[in-house]
Amino acid sequence: MTFSIKSVSILCVLCASVVNGFSLDREAFSFTNYDLNVRIEPDQHRLAVRGKITLRNDSSTAQRIAVLQISSSLDWRSVKVEDKTLQFVSRPYTSDIDHTGALSEAIVTLPQPVAPEGTIGLDIAYEGVILLDATRLTRIGTPEKTAQSTDWDQIGTSFAAVRGAGYVAWYPIATEVADLSEGNSLFEVLGRWKAREASSKMHLQLSLARGSAEQPPEILINETTCHILTAEVSSAQFVSGDCTYPALGVLIPAFVIANYQALRRSTIEVHYLTGHDAAATAFADAAEKVVPLITEWFGSPRERAKAADLPDPGAAPFESGALLLTPLASTDPKLAGLVAAHQLTHASFLSFRPWIEEGLAHFAQAIYLEHEKGRQAAIDYMGLHRSPFAEAEKRTSTPRSEDEVNRSLVKTASEELYRSKAMYVWWMLRDMIGEPALKKALAAYHPEQDKDPSYMPHLIAMQTKRDLEWFFDDWVYRDRGLPDFNVESAFSRKTLGQAYIVTITVDNMGAAGAEVPVTVKFTGGEVTKRLEVRAKSNGVIRVEVPMAPQEIVVNDGSVPESDMTNNVFKIEATDGRK
Ligand SMILES: [Zn+2]
Repeated sequence: MTFSIKSVSILCVLCASVVNGFSLDREAFSFTNYDLNVRIEPDQHRLAVRGKITLRNDSSTAQRIAVLQISSSLDWRSVKVEDKTLQFVSRPYTSDIDHTGALSEAIVTLPQPVAPEGTIGLDIAYEGVILLDATRLTRIGTPEKTAQSTDWDQIGTSFAAVRGAGYVAWYPIATEVADLSEGNSLFEVLGRWKAREASSKMHLQLSLARGSAEQPPEILINETTCHILTAEVSSAQFVSGDCTYPALGVLIPAFVIANYQALRRSTIEVHYLTGHDAAATAFADAAEKVVPLITEWFGSPRERAKAADLPDPGAAPFESGALLLTPLASTDPKLAGLVAAHQLTHASFLSFRPWIEEGLAHFAQAIYLEHEKGRQAAIDYMGLHRSPFAEAEKRTSTPRSEDEVNRSLVKTASEELYRSKAMYVWWMLRDMIGEPALKKALAAYHPEQDKDPSYMPHLIAMQTKRDLEWFFDDWVYRDRGLPDFNVESAFSRKTLGQAYIVTITVDNMGAAGAEVPVTVKFTGGEVTKRLEVRAKSNGVIRVEVPMAPQEIVVNDGSVPESDMTNNVFKIEATDGRK
């Protein structure tokens, strides 16, 4: 073991010493601060950016070269350090992290090497057009219409909507190649980028000019501390927004510019396009009905949730922070409440930890469905989220310890984990400690006091006498995969009355423990009890039923499991034993 670690590190030293112009470490630098002045010319589909970025060397070796990447439809104009123009080579770099399927890369020679953890500020300028472009999807065979409804970003004359990293690199990034035809490649590259940028700041000044006769458009940004100004100078009208992201967290900086009408209610504002009045009203009405439930769980909204319309009725919705972009006219009014539950949770509860921020917003959707249609509807809904991450959790070999940590809910940048898996974790916690206790823990949460990943787990542990350390270890601090339950044995015996006592042993073959519902069915009814079964072990429970038991079902679907096909146990004979 010692030998292999040693030889790996020797290899790395060798790699570092042979780094030259042809093998760039594109992920050496993180961009810790952006201060960008963005001028938009909708009629020309153009965007021109001047600004300053701060780079930090996150690698373990000094770096002489910095790689800056923007969308391939944009061009680098200049890179400077304190007024000194730096030499750079600009070249296309094929990568599916951008909608065009390529990036414009500036390979910049720095004035002197930047030491590990050292920083450097660069003044940058770039410009170009952002047109509807779904090349990265069409070249892997996605039909054009579907591809354009997915990659709908563009700057158009009457409508502009542009999302950041992972969609359009409209601000500089630095990533290794992402390839959509290669499994999780895009996902992993983007995950690493987001993790590196989680605590980065961004200050944006967006501006555009219009003829004074026109209705001034609205600028919407997925950050709440924005000041929007409209000024008239001679015959032109200048609309500008000044916005700051204190820390990007999981946010992908995005802006929308459109001639929206706005419907403003006390808890939600809906920005809609001409002709979509009815849909906007339906959405706002549905959202308002959800407010009491969300408030009860997550407190009163800190801000108004925002929904904004997309013109393409087939456009895939996008949410980031409290802003939702969705084609309102084609949003099923029946689903509006479900969608609103998510947005309102973001407007009420703030955390920079994705498993808390997004996990709770998805959990709120399950709670909403349970409230409207009962527990089974919520479990069915969560079930739709199960397969993508259950696939990711499949274990073919014993996971390495660092993978268990890196893929843990407190560290992961994987959406499937911090959204879907986290939703289940919140649901399981509620089932284990009860609704009042979990609500109290959430009420005690203050994001400014969240200095340690164990802060939230501690708040939860304080509300119960139960030991939950094992649960947090298996599900939150580490990624131990999923449990796999089956009923190992069941014995039933008649009591002196007419009842039966069934003694059930549940085995968990997985490496994550859970408390799971165990249901005993009999003619005309069923009895459910909950049983804690730790990882790679078993648990025994006795259940009393009024009639001869016929079937035992472990797990009602509220605990994500790697194999749900072995969860039913039939009791054929009723003569006492089986
Ligand atoms: Zn969300």
